[in-house]
Amino acid sequence: MTAKSFDVVIAGGGMAGTTLAWALTQTNPKLSIAIVEKQAVLQAATKSERCNQASFDSRSIALAAASVELLQQWQLWPELVANACPIKHVKVSDRGHFGKVSLQHQDYQQPALGYVLEVEHLGNLLLTKLKHCQQVTWFDANSIAHITPRQDHQELELHGGQHIQAKLLVIAEGGSSPSRALAGITMPQQHYGQSAVIANLALAKNHNFSAYERFTEHGPIALLPLTKQRYSLVYTTTSMQAERLMQLSETEFLSQMQQAFGYRAGVFSGAGQRAIYPLSLGIADSIIRHRLALLGNSLHNLHPIAGQGFNLALRDIEQLVKLLSVAEDAGSYSLLRAYQQARQTDISQVAFATDALVRIFSNRSRLLALARNMGLLALLMCKPLKTPLARHAMGYRR
Ligand SMILES: Cc1cc2nc3c(=O)[nH]c(=O)nc-3n(C[C@H](O)[C@H](O)[C@H](O)COP(=O)(O)OP(=O)(O)OC[C@H]3O[C@@H](n4cnc5c(N)ncnc54)[C@H](O)[C@@H]3O)c2cc1C
Repeated sequence: MTAKSFDVVIAGGGMAGTTLAWALTQTNPKLSIAIVEKQAVLQAATKSERCNQASFDSRSIALAAASVELLQQWQLWPELVANACPIKHVKVSDRGHFGKVSLQHQDYQQPALGYVLEVEHLGNLLLTKLKHCQQVTWFDANSIAHITPRQDHQELELHGGQHIQAKLLVIAEGGSSPSRALAGITMPQQHYGQSAVIANLALAKNHNFSAYERFTEHGPIALLPLTKQRYSLVYTTTSMQAERLMQLSETEFLSQMQQAFGYRAGVFSGAGQRAIYPLSLGIADSIIRHRLALLGNSLHNLHPIAGQGFNLALRDIEQLVKLLSVAEDAGSYSLLRAYQQARQTDISQVAFATDALVRIFSNRSRLLALARNMGLLALLMCKPLKTPLARHAMGYRR
């Protein structure tokens, strides 16, 4: 039996994998692309069933301004914008202490500091587009069983029994990726002992496009503005406390959230379905291997404190797409080296900064509390200090 051959095989059809596939169709119409996805995404008949896919769950993500520019380049943004809520003001505070920082979009001559999007909208759009795309072959409800490296391709045997070949295999299977392990790449995990509880909260009055982030001794808690007078809540706390929050009735849950945020962010009038995510930090010990590249959470699995995971994945995709658009051989050593060089500094810097934020702001030491509050105060009072912070938050690297 002859194996079907593809230029690029993407393992994992979640947020990062499908965005890469679509971006490639927009920039390189000659590439043949396959997606191997564990879940039966194509069989799901209805819109709501499709959104049950793990990657496109009830979560919302904050997209930096630079990420929105990428989604615009790949012709996705016009169909997403109606469901995206601009963040015009960001208010950061440390509970029980004096330090506060606020960022305003006008100060940076931007229409918004970023946007918040419920991921199911991105999922519906990408799956609909890719389902009907001639350039893309799906192997859904399937996964890779064996990877055999050959000089000019990777030979892949799928659990469904199919044999396929890839000039380049891109692994985008999320944080606990079996194909990454098959390729011999490890991702050491540091568990924070924290979990994030997420839910959408309805508001009695409008949020005025403001996002709130508060640091508490158990972890950061955030409210991101959503369309239709709602907030997306990300409540980080100890794993035990998070489990308890999941068990509360809606009224008890709302009352605890109101207590945590006070009334500055408004009065919460309802809470949607809750979900819980255990939090850890993991960086793969290698970005590339022979004819293989890692992408998204398979490469970097971060705490959501700074809302950086998918923004970072979009920059991985940007690089890979750029390199593939001029490559003669999709999996050549020079292309993979260039990808590694282009990505390693950004990933290490964002992972380091995110980890430092978690540790500094979850620490009960009074001295550290004073230092971080002085830091927040200095940021508040000094615009030249705030500018690099805001540019970073907007996803601009320079
Ligand atoms: C609470 C929370 C809030 C967040 N907020 C933000 C934010 O505001 N901004 C931001 O940028 N990021 C945010 N993130 C991070 C963001 O959600 C992730 O970076 C993003 O989901 C990564 O996408 P991915 O496709 O790499 O992985 P995943 O979303 O995990 O998708 C992996 C895909 O691979 C499939 N798969 C798994 N195993 C296999 C296999 N063996 N074979 C085939 N397919 C497989 C899965 O079914 C899935 O479809 C947040 C994360 C959390 C938990």
